[in-house]
Amino acid sequence: MINEQTQPAVGPDSAVGRIRDEVLRRRRFLLTSHARPDGDSIGSQLAMAFALDALGKQVRIVNADAAPDHYQDFPGMDRIEIAERVTPDVDAVIVMECSDLGRSGVQGLEGQFLINIDHHAGNRLYGALNWHDESAAACGEMVFDLIRALDVPLSLEIATHIYLAILTDTGSFHHSNITPRTFDICRQAVEAGVNPAIMARRVFDSNSFGKLKLIGALLDSMVLLDEGRLAVLHMDDGMLEACNCTNNDTEGLINLPLTAREIQAVVFFKMGPDDVVRVSMRSKYDVDVRRVANEFGGGGHKNAAGFTVTGTLADLEPKICERLVAAIAEGLESRPTA
Ligand code: AMP
Ligand code: MN
Repeated sequence: MINEQTQPAVGPDSAVGRIRDEVLRRRRFLLTSHARPDGDSIGSQLAMAFALDALGKQVRIVNADAAPDHYQDFPGMDRIEIAERVTPDVDAVIVMECSDLGRSGVQGLEGQFLINIDHHAGNRLYGALNWHDESAAACGEMVFDLIRALDVPLSLEIATHIYLAILTDTGSFHHSNITPRTFDICRQAVEAGVNPAIMARRVFDSNSFGKLKLIGALLDSMVLLDEGRLAVLHMDDGMLEACNCTNNDTEGLINLPLTAREIQAVVFFKMGPDDVVRVSMRSKYDVDVRRVANEFGGGGHKNAAGFTVTGTLADLEPKICERLVAAIAEGLESRPTA
C-alpha cells in the first residue's frame, strides 16, 4: 500500500498518466540512458525492462558504454547491448536520465516515438512525451511511479533496481534531494525483499586491490584551496595504468574528500587524449555545483554535476576553481543547521 501522502498523481492529463497510456498501447520498446551509465541509469532502465516484461512487451536495452564492474552481477545486466548506433524497429524509445537526446551517446534514435523521463535540471523536453521532475531524488523514483501506474507488482528484480537507483543517486543518502518519498519507496523495496546491507556492500564495498591503490595515489596528490574548503583531484591514464585500473574504477572516488569535515566541494579533473578534460564536481548542503557546470556547458544536480571541455588544465583549472570558491561562499551563507 502506498500511503496517501506519497501516492503519485496519475490523472489522465498528468505526464505519468499519458506515458502509462502510450506504454499500454505499444508493444515493442527500446530503453536507453546516458553514456557512462551510473547506478540510477542502470537501475531505472532495468526496473523498467522487468516491468515491461511483466506486461508481455518486447524490450531491448541499448547503452553507449558498459556499466562499472560492481553493477555487472545485478539481475538483467546481460540484457544490455552496448552500441554507439542502432536501427530501432520498435514502437517507442524510453530515454531515461538524459537532459537532451545527445547524452545517450547512441545514434539513430532521432525520429522515433521518444518518451523522455528525467530529473535533471534543464531537460530540453525533446520527446513526444516528456516527464521532467527535478524534485525526484533519482530517476528511479519516477520509474517507480510509472511502474505503479502500470499496475505492475513490485517483483524482487524491480525493487532491487529501484533501490539501486536511489541508493547511488542520493550518494548513499548524502545528497540534499532526499524527501520522505525517497524513504517511502525504499521501504516498499525492502518489503519486496531488498536487503539494504547487501546492497550497500555490493555497490560501495566491492573495490579491487588496484582501486584501493588508486585511492591512495589520488588522495596523495589532492590539492586543497580556499582554506581547505575546496579539494582538487587530478587523474590521467598513466595513474590508472600504474594501479592496474580502468576508467570504470573511478566511480565514487570523487566523494572521498567530502568525508573531511572542512571540505565543502570537490572537483575532479580526468585528463583524456586530445586535451579533452572531464570535470566532475560534488558538494555538501547548499553549495550549488550545477550552476558552475551550466556555465561550462554541462549539467547535473546541486550536489553532483559535471561537464566535458577541451583545453589545457593550466587554462581551465583556475577559472573553474574560482567559480567553485564563489559557489562555496554562497552556499555556506544558507547552510542548514539541523
Ligand atoms: P558525474 O560527475 O559524471 O558523475 O556526473 C554528475 C552529474 O552531472 C550526473 O547527474 C550527470 O548526469 C551530470 N552531468 C555530468 N556531465 C554532464 C554533461 N556534460 N551534461 C549534462 N549533465 C552532466
Ligand atoms: Mn539520476
